Amino acid sequence: MSKQFVIGNWKLNGNSDQIKSVLGAVAQHQFAAEVGVCVPFPYLALAAETLKGGSVQLGAQDVSRYASGAYTGEVSAPMLKEIGCRMALVAHSERRQLFAETTETAALKIRLCIDAGLLPVYCVGESTEERNAGKMQETIATQLDAVKDLPVDQYTIAYEPTWAIGTGASASPGQIAEVHGFIKDKLGNGARVFYGGSVKGSNAASVLATPGVDGVLVGGASLNAQEFVEICKAAR
Ligand code: 13P
Repeated sequence: MSKQFVIGNWKLNGNSDQIKSVLGAVAQHQFAAEVGVCVPFPYLALAAETLKGGSVQLGAQDVSRYASGAYTGEVSAPMLKEIGCRMALVAHSERRQLFAETTETAALKIRLCIDAGLLPVYCVGESTEERNAGKMQETIATQLDAVKDLPVDQYTIAYEPTWAIGTGASASPGQIAEVHGFIKDKLGNGARVFYGGSVKGSNAASVLATPGVDGVLVGGASLNAQEFVEICKAAR
């Protein structure tokens, strides 16, 4: 079985001092699991420098659906690879909700990541309304279309139900196990599926011990070095 993976997603937070202090502190630890951090674009180079020589991997929070050309404001997968990124988040629910990301654009991004040698971490998950309407599986199945023709070892899935993100209320182990089981049934057992949504120091061990959980995607708690390290140490 492959190692579990803990990925921090800083979202639109942080500054140079925090990159140096938080990532500098995290980088001093040894972990049994794989660990990564996705910081805002302007800090990727500083983060790469701060993490140099250690085992903590660097990632971006988004990537262009184009490889190069006249696309003002975009950042491509080969550029991210060149400055030291190992992964990129794709179609985080905040990008789906606020920035018109679709499953179709996600599919383009995932392929460009793979072509550039980056691991795409493809985010899926249902809203409260979809869950209450009994459409959870349908929603996720449709989102999984973006990876349907790809070998499972070329990407990872992050299951992040929108109702658990930033709310302090994580999905329960039973809910997580059910959805991860559903995703693995669809994609094949080799698929790696991470959970995200209010993972903290206090619940990381129970989330990471849940059947079908291959890692976690951590938002708010990844901004605090001590708490993020606690989460990383709970992973195997
Ligand atoms: P929180 O951990 O802050 O709930 O965020 C989860 C998330 O969106 C990670 O990508």
